[in-house]
Amino acid sequence: MKDIFSTAGLETLRHFITPHTLIAFDLDGTLAPISPDPGNITVSNELQHELQMIMQYLPVAIITGRSRRDALRFFEISPNYLIGNHGAEGLPRWEQAETLFNELGQSWKMQLLHCLETSDAGVLLEDKGTSLSVHYRHTVNRDQAYHRLLHMLKKLTPTPRIVEGKCVINLVPFNAPHKGDALLELLHLAGMNSAIFMGDDETDEDIFALKQNHILSIRVGKSTTSQADWFIPEQNDLLKIVIEMRLHLQRTQSAKNQEM
Ligand SMILES: [Mg+2]
Repeated sequence: MKDIFSTAGLETLRHFITPHTLIAFDLDGTLAPISPDPGNITVSNELQHELQMIMQYLPVAIITGRSRRDALRFFEISPNYLIGNHGAEGLPRWEQAETLFNELGQSWKMQLLHCLETSDAGVLLEDKGTSLSVHYRHTVNRDQAYHRLLHMLKKLTPTPRIVEGKCVINLVPFNAPHKGDALLELLHLAGMNSAIFMGDDETDEDIFALKQNHILSIRVGKSTTSQADWFIPEQNDLLKIVIEMRLHLQRTQSAKNQEM
């Protein structure tokens, strides 16, 4: 994993951007810093302004674990594409299946409510429609809660796909599209032939693992286990890389105008 701010990194980034590149981001921990209160994250005005400017040149997608409705609350701007529930919500081809995914989520929720005991105080079930998130950030003993929950979740029927995050375990229907499927589908929908994706968490590995030449993957934070090719050191470096992309697009455009 290499630093995208290195000379080679910035050169790769600039070469990668063409008029047919989709620019995609995860939300929590990527566009917004992680907050102790997940209900209250902030995508800075400056960053939203930069994204808006990028959208004058290229399509911008947000692929998040939140539901689409929840994610929209944090934006003044309207991204070209917004995919929710780790890829399971918002793809036109999957619209009909979403009802089925919703029913699965409900069933898991009922099964879990039945199993939770007073010792599980602090565990929070977040019904996101096509997926269910089990938060344990506010339990007294997180490690103990995590293991107990995992044991419970593995007994659910039908078996969910378990995607772990920071103090959260996400339950996603096994046959639902994941973030990697979603990105490939968006490329097709947008008529683009390459994508830059930035993300920070376990669920973003579904995109990082694609390992295709037409996808440039950048992780927020260096990691020895991630499959992403590049990293930015911290979340607050994200604005810098977005500015870098915007400047490159503007420079390319003005060079083109001069040629005419
Ligand atoms: Mg994230």
